Amino acid sequence: MSRIVDVLVVGSGLAGLVAALTAAEQGRSVRLLTSGMDSLAISGGSVDFLGYADSRLASDPWQSLALLPEDHPYRLLGTESVRSAFQFFSDTMEKQHWPMRPALAQDGTPRNTQLPTIMGTLKPTYLLPASLNTQAMASAKKVLVLSVQGLRDCQPALVVSQLKRYRSWADREFSQGLLPSPFGETHRAITALDLARLADKQQSRQWLLNALAPHAGKYDLILIPPLCGSRANPEVWQAVNVAAGCPVVEMLSIPPGVGGLRLRDALLTALHKLDFELVENTTVLRAETADKVCTSVLAEASGQQRRHEARAFVTATGGILGGGMVLEPGQCWDSVFNIDITVPQDVTQWSEPQIFGNHLFSRMGVRVDREMRPVDAAAAVRWQNVFFAGRSLGGYDYATEKSGHGVAIATGWQAGRMAAAAAAAGEKQ
Ligand SMILES: Cc1cc2nc3c(=O)[nH]c(=O)nc-3n(C[C@H](O)[C@H](O)[C@H](O)COP(=O)(O)OP(=O)(O)OC[C@H]3O[C@@H](n4cnc5c(N)ncnc54)[C@H](O)[C@@H]3O)c2cc1C
Repeated sequence: MSRIVDVLVVGSGLAGLVAALTAAEQGRSVRLLTSGMDSLAISGGSVDFLGYADSRLASDPWQSLALLPEDHPYRLLGTESVRSAFQFFSDTMEKQHWPMRPALAQDGTPRNTQLPTIMGTLKPTYLLPASLNTQAMASAKKVLVLSVQGLRDCQPALVVSQLKRYRSWADREFSQGLLPSPFGETHRAITALDLARLADKQQSRQWLLNALAPHAGKYDLILIPPLCGSRANPEVWQAVNVAAGCPVVEMLSIPPGVGGLRLRDALLTALHKLDFELVENTTVLRAETADKVCTSVLAEASGQQRRHEARAFVTATGGILGGGMVLEPGQCWDSVFNIDITVPQDVTQWSEPQIFGNHLFSRMGVRVDREMRPVDAAAAVRWQNVFFAGRSLGGYDYATEKSGHGVAIATGWQAGRMAAAAAAAGEKQ
């Protein structure tokens, strides 16, 4: 643990994992410190790139990038870098046998897909597991919506009644049903994760295949909650589609985030083949800096403090939710470097009365340059070897834009690349 690594990453969310993988693939030694679970544990397995721009639905997210404000992370990076980052992510997932691809318009251009949720709403998202058949979703006439007895989060009747309100789904012939619970009679509320874990193992997966069999051959499409395994394992999908006799599409669900866990599984599998150390249950307390350079971070695990030295640092600690930002009335700062994030003193200005309004707190975060190095109010770089990524950045609102995993991938890739280059430069000195 005492060796000086090339790149030290803080935070194991999508941004931290992508940064770590980008740096490690460039031959750098990488250590990742993380205090706990990240938002992958509560999020879906599709990558939102840009669902809305300038309050308008973005069917072609690449075109819509131009509508974003200039300080948005995508605009800072530029379209070509965002493209390279998405390519890196897609290539990685392909190698892990969990391809993530966009749907294609008739002219072959990639576009957003409107994916059904367990609330019966449609959400624009971009990269989808290749196992998710977008063509069947668009053309299916006879659609069966299924849930599982005891799974309170997903009610087929609600899904059907809500989906029918959309023009693209209104003329389908819907049926609905409940699969028997694999847990028998129980008062315990079942989650999609409980069911997905059963599908991970070949023996217990048989429950799902047997339950689907009576429906085989009767429908063009089956919509189910995300229960086809918690790992990035294409075998589960193949078996489920065969048992159902038609394409099966998992709806986006509320937490726990089965789909997000699959992304994490694939990225960690890729990382563990490289010079990579994962240190969990460790909270970084502060960074130690001198002359515009960070030399180490001080971290605490099980009541013990330890210094971690590195040549370059990536901070991917998430937003308010992830613990990356600390809020107090009239004040906000990043939890590792103590960078002050300017906010209005009057807390009522941090949010708007409308729940889906343009809330300031959603866009608060660290300001960076194109290389993802934090800058001060005069746009001067604070430290040469420190790079920020993901939700700890300011200038975007992932919830209203639907850009969460997309920004994490794009900025994580850039931060990882820049940190690898800074480490290489530091090694030569
Ligand atoms: C309920 C929900 C569902 C979502 N679903 C989707 C979806 O389907 N698709 C999509 O594209 N986006 C989705 N998003 C958005 C998306 O999850 C995030 O915007 C994005 O993934 C943020 O990743 P991140 O790596 O920046 O931060 P996080 O995932 O929050 O990770 C931050 C990490 O930093 C660690 N950390 C924080 N402080 C410290 C410290 N001091 N020391 C050590 N470690 C620290 C945390 O433990 C955590 O591991 C969803 C968000 C939510 C809340």
